[in-house]
Order: sequence, then structure tokens, then C-alpha cells
Amino acid sequence: MTRLLYRTARATLPVAVGGQGIELIDSEGRRYIDASGGAAVSCLGHQHPDVLAALHAQLDRLAYAHTGFFTSEPAEQLAERLVADAPPGLERVYLVSGGSEAVEAALKMARQYMVETGQPQRRHVIARRQSYHGNTLGALATGGNAGRRAAFQPLLIDTHHIDPCYAYRLREPGESDAAYAARAAQALEDRILEIGPERVMAFVAETVVGATAGAVPPLADYLKRVRAICDRYGVLLILDEVMCGMGRCGTLHACEQDGVSPDLMTIAKGLGGGYQPIGAVLLSGRIFDAFADGSGAFMHGHTYMGHPMAAAAGLAVQDIVRRDGLLANVTAMGEILQRGLVERLGDSRQVGDIRGRGLFRAVELVADRATRAPFDPSLKLHARIKHEAMARGLMVYPSGGTADGTRGDHVLLAPPFIVTPGDVGRIVDRLGDAI
Ligand code: PMP
Repeated sequence: MTRLLYRTARATLPVAVGGQGIELIDSEGRRYIDASGGAAVSCLGHQHPDVLAALHAQLDRLAYAHTGFFTSEPAEQLAERLVADAPPGLERVYLVSGGSEAVEAALKMARQYMVETGQPQRRHVIARRQSYHGNTLGALATGGNAGRRAAFQPLLIDTHHIDPCYAYRLREPGESDAAYAARAAQALEDRILEIGPERVMAFVAETVVGATAGAVPPLADYLKRVRAICDRYGVLLILDEVMCGMGRCGTLHACEQDGVSPDLMTIAKGLGGGYQPIGAVLLSGRIFDAFADGSGAFMHGHTYMGHPMAAAAGLAVQDIVRRDGLLANVTAMGEILQRGLVERLGDSRQVGDIRGRGLFRAVELVADRATRAPFDPSLKLHARIKHEAMARGLMVYPSGGTADGTRGDHVLLAPPFIVTPGDVGRIVDRLGDAI
């Protein structure tokens, strides 16, 4: 019997006792290739000796200092590093312990910015129906997954959901990329006008949609159009790169590939690679300067923010990603993974789409490729694929479709950045067998 409360029933979970490179090892000695990176977390794989050395060194010096009294060397160094590599305009860093905390803080920063700049009526948030932004109340209100939100209504924030730029299921037949990107962006402008621009605080979006829709990259120009619309109406743009960021898509930030800078950006998972819980908000100088007349005083805080151990992990992981040129490997291995998936699964009648960026890829499964009809959600295809993959020593991240068909079944892959062509081949083989 377990006394732990998990989302997945404990009886079905193996016990993880070790890790080595891209593999996890359970108490029976079975090995699993971590092709999901947990949930797009483990960018350097497990037990990386250089991260462990940095953590041991930090532990020997100082484990904890409360940010009400002190800053710390690793936190300061990590902030310098993050700002040096940030999209243009993002000049300040707020360190927290994970993705939901980062989203929550970004929402509150947007709100405080509006209040301090004399626009308190701006409190409405626009987000996307196929999105996940976390489980705390503000983040949950922002995410579009109706199933997750249902039990907790009414939520704290007035959020309005529109569709993302989802080029597989939501594209009109025969619609060009340019026409579809324009239509998807127009939906944002229409919604801003419907609510009243003077009441809208922020538009929140994952640059590449992760867990809910399966590695859906935006079409060219979609985010540029979104940026222009936000600027036109004084709406803040918050990009959530908790999952798709920190190298996962082959550039440090996914939005670099779209030529767009947000006003606020959330990062987490790949920031610390799972070695410590850590997340961050990168914010523009304009927002920082508005807080308490330029003092940067943001009315928020957590006991463990800027934790020295977490910052040391983030610093070490980010050093290694750069030192070992891993972004180039992400791009190269991502292409091999895409080709491998297409070769192995592309002809299947039940495979609708294979897509993604870098080492953030997904296979979308459909009952019938001709009609793009999703599988009946009661089949629980995602749970069965996860089970079959685990039985073959493979961790993947499948997600189930919705009854209204707005989301299909997909399997998300987010392996560590250190994979080799041989590893990618094994991942494709095992996934193909499992499906
Ligand atoms: N935003 C996105 C895009 C995510 O994918 C996640 C986690 N899957 C979160 C926020 C929440 O992060 P956490 O689970 O660390 O709270």
C-alpha cells in the first residue's frame, strides 16, 4: 500500500531507482529509454556527472538562503545568463520553482502592470482552447482544457479561449498556410474587439503547443501577426515556453524561430533539466519599470524562489547545453526523428500527422485518415499506448482526444538533447511496435 496521492494509481507504476544517460531503471532492473524526457524535462538525461558535481559543490557551500534577506551567487549568475540569451527586450528574471508558479507570476505581473499604469479595468485574459498552462488556479483558468477545468468552476480569472494555429485538424480544406495563419490571428483581434480592448490584459500562448495538442508549431507569420495585434490594442503578449523552450525546439527559445519577442515569457522544465525544481519569468524592462515607480517591487513571492540549489542546477544545465553544442544536436536529431517516424508510421491509415520542431515531436492518431476523424475517446488509446511502450522499455507522453473532436489522440516525444542516431532509431522502433 502507498500513502502517496498521485494522479496515476500507484499500483500501476514501477518504482524508479536509478538513471543513466537517456535511460531510467526500475526496482526490477528494467531499463526504459526516456523518450518523453519525463514531460519534456530531462534535457541532459539522467545523472549527468557535471550537473551532479555542480550540485554537490553548491550543497557544500550553501543550500538555502531566503530571498527576503539575501541574494545568492548562483541565482545572480543564472539571471545574467538568462538575460544575455533572452529574446530582445526581456531584461529581468523572476525565479520560481516550476512552470505553474511561473505562469501564475506572469499573470500577476501583467495585472500589476495594468494597475500601476492606470488601466485597472484591463483584467480579461485571452488564451487558446488547445493549451496547457499549469494546475494552480490562475494557470488552470488560463489553460483551455475543459476537462481539467470542469470541477473547479467558477475560476478566478475571466479567460476567453480561441483556437490556436493548428495546421492539421483546424485548417479549412485547401486553405494555404498564409491564409490560415491570417485567419487564426484574426480570431484574436475579433475577440479583443468583442471584449473591448480597454478591458483586455493579456494574450497567453504556448509558442509550440505541447501536452494538450502534441507539438503543434505555429505557421510562419502567425506569431508576428499576434504580436502586431497585441501592440495595436495595448494587450500584453505572454509566451509560455515552459515545455517548448530552453532548447527543446533547437533554438534556446522557441519564439526565436518566429522572430517574435513577448512582453513576458515563462520557462521551466529544460531550465533545470529535472535536477532541481526551477522555473522563471523573463520580463520586459517596461514592465519592471512600471512596478512601484521603477523600483521593480512586484507584489508576489514564494519561500523557495531563487533557491541556491535550484539556481546552481539551472546554471550547470545551461552551461552544458552551450558547452557541448547541444542545440545543434537537437536540430539534427530532430530531423532524423521526424524522418524515422514518417518512414515507420507515415503510411499507416491511423496516423494523421507527424510534426514538431527540434526534439519536440508528435504523432497524431486518427480513426480514419481520409476524414481526419479522431478515435472514440472511450477507447483510451493514450493509456494503452503508454502501457505498450513501457512494456517495451520506452517512455513516451501520449494524450487522449476529446469527445467534441477538438483534440485528437497524439503521442508526444521529447527525448534528451544528448540522443544519438542509434538512440533515435531505437525510439522509433519501439514506438512503432507499441502503436
Ligand atoms: N505551461 C506549460 C506549457 C506546461 O507544459 C506545463 C507543464 N506540463 C506547465 C505550464 C506547468 O508546469 P508545472 O507542471 O511545472 O507546474
